[in-house]
Amino acid sequence: MKNYQSYLEKSGEIGYTQSATRSLAIVDGLPGIKPKELVVFETGELGQALVLKKELVEVLLFSPKPVRVGTAATRTGEKLTLPVGEALLGQVINPLCQPINGSSSFKMPSASYPTDQAPWGIEKRVKIKRPLETGLAVVDLLLPLGQGQRELAIGDRKTGKTSFAEQVVLGLKGKNTVCIYTLIAKRAAEAKRLAEIFQKASVHNQTVIIAAPAEAGSGLVYLAPFSAITIAEYFRDQGQDTLVIFDDLTTHAKFYREIALLAKRFPGRDSYPADIFFTHARIMERGGNFKTPKGEASITLLPLAETTSGDLTGYIQTNLMSMTDGHLFFDRDLFVTGQRPAINPFLSVTRVGRQTQTPLKREISRELLAFLSLHEKMQSLVHFGAELTEEVRSILAQGERVKLLFQQDEESFVPANLSFYLLALLWKNPWPEKTIAEVEEELAKLVKLYREDEDFRQKVNHLMEKEETLAKLLEKINHG
Ligand code: ATP
Ligand code: MG
Repeated sequence: MKNYQSYLEKSGEIGYTQSATRSLAIVDGLPGIKPKELVVFETGELGQALVLKKELVEVLLFSPKPVRVGTAATRTGEKLTLPVGEALLGQVINPLCQPINGSSSFKMPSASYPTDQAPWGIEKRVKIKRPLETGLAVVDLLLPLGQGQRELAIGDRKTGKTSFAEQVVLGLKGKNTVCIYTLIAKRAAEAKRLAEIFQKASVHNQTVIIAAPAEAGSGLVYLAPFSAITIAEYFRDQGQDTLVIFDDLTTHAKFYREIALLAKRFPGRDSYPADIFFTHARIMERGGNFKTPKGEASITLLPLAETTSGDLTGYIQTNLMSMTDGHLFFDRDLFVTGQRPAINPFLSVTRVGRQTQTPLKREISRELLAFLSLHEKMQSLVHFGAELTEEVRSILAQGERVKLLFQQDEESFVPANLSFYLLALLWKNPWPEKTIAEVEEELAKLVKLYREDEDFRQKVNHLMEKEETLAKLLEKINHG
């Protein structure tokens, strides 16, 4: 970016601010301006042409500072670009890639990428075939994800969406994946909290946190997801896998609605601007699994969305569902019963993740889902107070044990291979006499053993990779 003076000399157009709100400035006298062109004010503030009218242009401001009436502005002939590079790793930045209370050693990266890039076409994409391990058994067993997949995490307030996203990032430690966490209109303290968590878990040098708190202005909040995907594209071009988290897009939609209403754009459904679908879909389309000159590289997207009272049918929510490859539903009812993570496998979907699984894992996954729905039915029998046969009783007991695997606190990471192994083990019902609490202890012991004992780890991994069917796996499994 050059400065105001040089742009003024280049374009020869000078405009003056007629009126301004916190996120928009109305400027006259820029006859040559094009949509989305960057505007610079004499005070150094940046903005983007949002709506062009006959003699006026509405400029979306990328600055927390208000622009005064009368401030001169000029057009740049350029679209917004961001400085991107390795230097961003470990930083908390604003959506313009400027570090927030960064260290003095920070050097602005020299590569510059446009924020509004067309998604790559089909010829540069490859099939998603590498799994993305989340370390959460309920996801890895039932709703597997692939690298390059776009999976929505959706649920009511305080149902563990953010915790889930954090857990996925922590699970990618040392796996050569850059994680970009976008905080959209969250409190400034949230960025600090996340940075500390990542630092403590030593994943900070593979993460970038983008913080756009509400007080930074609607323009920056609007920009945040675009910045995130732009940074991801830089790393993709270096042949790196990336994961981008948008926390959350329902809030993003609300901010965009506010901007559009202020600009007196025609309000569409629920007062959202007509291009809200386009805006989000264009971000989502930039994710995927790509062929790059430096090898295969994926951009996995994990947008979060909020629902009210578990209603999945909202406008923005259904929009997001239709532009992603599935969703994980965080269920308030499960959350209050103490289930963590509170993901409801029956109301969740994964569209491309299954193709990344081995035939054995796919078989186990299918069996498990069938068993769980049977268990669910049996449970409703209990509610009716019907007399239970021995068979029903054993299904109920088995269900209790299997569900132990789905209960994981925020620090826990169980590798997918181990989850499958433990499930197969439970299938054989090795501890018929033990109580639930005792079975839980046994499982915890095995998780610990896997972490500490190289032989056991190799045995589990070998079984999961070599065996072809569940029947064969069950033959090979012995405990103790
Ligand atoms: P918000 O709507 O405020 O963004 P959210 O859906 O992102 O909420 P979180 O903030 O992630 O939810 O979680 C809500 C609470 O649940 C937090 O106090 C968190 O510590 C707790 N929690 C979430 N997941 C787990 C877990 N796996 N184990 C233990 N506690 C959890
Ligand atoms: Mg949250």
